[in-house]
Amino acid sequence: MTGQAPGFGLKCPYCGFDARKVKECYIAEKKRHVVYYVCMSCGNRFKHVVGGRREVVVKVDSPDSYYLLFKGTLENFLFSLRDFAERRSELIRQFSAGIFLWGASRMDSRIKAGIGVFLYVTKNQYNEGGLALYGRLLDVKKFSGRYWPSGKWNYLLPIRVERVAEGVLESPSDLAKWRLPDRRRLEELGVRILPGIRTVKPEQGEKLKNLLKPLR
Ligand SMILES: [Zn+2]
Repeated sequence: MTGQAPGFGLKCPYCGFDARKVKECYIAEKKRHVVYYVCMSCGNRFKHVVGGRREVVVKVDSPDSYYLLFKGTLENFLFSLRDFAERRSELIRQFSAGIFLWGASRMDSRIKAGIGVFLYVTKNQYNEGGLALYGRLLDVKKFSGRYWPSGKWNYLLPIRVERVAEGVLESPSDLAKWRLPDRRRLEELGVRILPGIRTVKPEQGEKLKNLLKPLR
């Protein structure tokens, strides 16, 4: 999977913004066609059911079946954080406020619009690193431009931010005030930090979310 084909223009029932199709299926015994969407603005999910007595749009509040944990350098995280806050780049201005831009070098089938993602900052010269941010992946886009200071990122991952570690937004440039839940804290909850993109089980994901502060 390398990004989904754009869905037709359905509006999000939560906020009215444009939504993107994530998957569709046909339920033969009920003669119903079900199309799942994720909102490009608020990240909420819903489905459009065609067939049966009438056509309906239903909000989908199903629990996540998994989360993903991405790791990244402090340098790149700081760059994205600053752009998230100040919205200086042309790229970030293509998205609504509250979107944090991350990247992936290659794609795999786990990375898809609508899933919950964690960002983990790796060990660096200032701290041990740790869990920094949680949000919902709005989209997966092929990307050929340059944005981050280091690395080669072929996919752009816009994330609707929901939670951030204490101190990060309050003091974006004063790392001494950041309180990132570190590797040991995560291991206590059963999440080991290993190379590559990690799948996190739903019950562990809920615990990780609670280590971060909700936005606002
Ligand atoms: Zn919405």
